[in-house]
Amino acid sequence: MQLQTVLDEIQKRPGTGDTIPVFDPSTEEQITEFKDCGPEAVNDAVARARESFESGVWHGLPASERAKVLWRVGELIDENADVLAKLESLNAGMTPTQAQGTVTVSAEFFRYYAGWCSKIEGIAADVHTGGLTGIDSHQHAYTLKEPYGVVGLIFPWNGPIFNFCAKLAPSLAAGCSSVVKPAEETPLTALVLDRILTEAGVPDGVANLLLGYGHTAGAAITAHPDVEKVAFTGSTEVGREIVHAAGASNLKKVTLELGGKSPVVVFDDADLKSAIPMAAFGTFIHSGQACVCGSRIFVQRSVFDRFVEGLANIANTLPQGGPTEEGVIIGPLISQKQLNRVLGYLDQGKSDGVEFVTGGHRRDRKGYFVHPTVVTNVATTSRLFQEEIFGPVVSVIPFDDEDEAVALANDTTYGLAATAWTSNLGRAHRIAKRLKAGTVGLNCQMQFDHSMPFGGYKQSGWGYESGKAGLETYLQTKIVWAQL
Ligand code: NAD
Repeated sequence: MQLQTVLDEIQKRPGTGDTIPVFDPSTEEQITEFKDCGPEAVNDAVARARESFESGVWHGLPASERAKVLWRVGELIDENADVLAKLESLNAGMTPTQAQGTVTVSAEFFRYYAGWCSKIEGIAADVHTGGLTGIDSHQHAYTLKEPYGVVGLIFPWNGPIFNFCAKLAPSLAAGCSSVVKPAEETPLTALVLDRILTEAGVPDGVANLLLGYGHTAGAAITAHPDVEKVAFTGSTEVGREIVHAAGASNLKKVTLELGGKSPVVVFDDADLKSAIPMAAFGTFIHSGQACVCGSRIFVQRSVFDRFVEGLANIANTLPQGGPTEEGVIIGPLISQKQLNRVLGYLDQGKSDGVEFVTGGHRRDRKGYFVHPTVVTNVATTSRLFQEEIFGPVVSVIPFDDEDEAVALANDTTYGLAATAWTSNLGRAHRIAKRLKAGTVGLNCQMQFDHSMPFGGYKQSGWGYESGKAGLETYLQTKIVWAQL
C-alpha cells in the first residue's frame, strides 16, 4: 500500500459516528479524516469474531499452521516497513530512526509468538488420594490451556504499530478472535496491518479492526457482554473506567498496561558518562511520550550539580523537529490536547516556584513541540512530581543515602519501571529488590526484548505483556479429572 492510498482509503471506511480528523503533529496540519465506526459496527465486529471463534476456523487449526500465518505476518510487516515507518512518522511524530525501529520490533512480535503456537501446554498429575470426600480414589488429572474466546484489544497513540502487534500477535498465537481498536489520533498504520493480516492468511472475522473514539467504540467494546477479555494499554484513569465497565457487564477479564512516573536513582559511584546521556535519552525520547520514561531522577548530593548540568546541556542541544528534518532525535507531542496538558503542568510548576534549569516553554515554530525541560527544587507532594505528564519534562532531586533514595523513588502511586546507576554490585541488586516497579534497570534504561515479560506494579497495571506471560494473558486454564 502506498502512503497516499492509506490517507484516501481511511476516508472511505463506513461509520455512523462523528468525523474524526487526523493530524501531522509536526505541522499541525490535518492530513485525512475518518468516520467513527459507531456502536452498531462494534456489535457486528464482535458477532463476526464470535462466529469465527465458535467455528474453530482459527483456533481449531493445527498449531503449526497458525505459526506459519503469524510468521508470514512478520515477513509482510518487514516487506511493508518503508510505508509503515513513514505513516508512523507522519501520524505519531516519530523520527525516521525511531519509526523504523518500532516497525522492526513489531514484525518480531509475530515471529516470536509464531514459535509459541506449538508450545501451549498444561501439566499432568497422577493423583491417588482421599480428596475432599475422604474416599480413596485414583485419578489422572491434567490442565488444558484454552483461548479466552473473543478479546478486545485497545491501545494508545504513543506507539501505534508496536501496541497493535504486542497485543494481536500473542492473542492470535493463543487462538483468540479479536476486535482491535487503535487510538483515534493514530489509525493509519492499523489500516496497513489489517491488509497484511488478510494477505498472510488470518481468516475473515478473526481480527476485526474498529476505528473510533474511546468513549464510543472503546466503551462499547468494554461494555459488550460477548467479549470475554479486554487487554488495554493507556492511561490509569481510563484503565479504571474499563475495570468498572467490565464489572458492570459480564465480569470480563482485564489486563491493563497503564501509566508511569518512573524513578531513576543515580549514586555518586555511578559511571556518569553513561548515566547522564542514558537518563536524558530515557526521559526525552519521543518527547517524553513513553510509558517507561524516567521522569523523576534522584541524584546523590555530591554529584547533583554535575549531573543536572550535563542533563541540561543535552536537553538544550537535542535536535528536535519533524520527521523530514535532517538529524532530528526527538519529535513533537501528539496533539493540541497533549500540548495543552504539558503546558498546563509547566504553568503549575511556575506558580509552585520550581526552578527551571532549562526549557519550560513551547518551541517558537509550527508543530506541537515543547523544549526538553529540566526542573529542580520540586516539592515531592506537587502535581509535577506525582502525576504522569507524558511530555519532555523531568524533575531532578538530590538525596543523601540509599534509604532516602529508595523512599523517594517509591513515593508514587505508579510502579511501571525504575532504574539505578551505581558501580557497587551489591547495592545494585539490593536496590533492585527494594524498588517497587515491574521493571528495574541496573546501569541500563529503556531495555526491551520480546522474550521478557513487561507489566506494572501498583497503579501501573494488571498482568503482563511480552514473553510467555504475554501469551498466557490470552489463555485460561481448564482442569480435567479422569477416574482411573
Ligand atoms: P488513553 O487512556 O486516553 O487512551 C488509550 C486508548 O483507550 C485509546 O484507544 C482510547 O481511544 C481508548 N479509550 C479512551 N477512553 C475509553 C473508554 N472509556 N473505554 C474504552 N477505551 C477508551 O491514553 P492515551 O492518552 O491515549 O495514552 C497515554 C497513556 O498510555 C499514558 O498514561 C501512558 O503511560 C499509557 N501507556 C502505557 C503503556 C504500558 O505499557 N504500560 C504503554 C504505552 C502507553
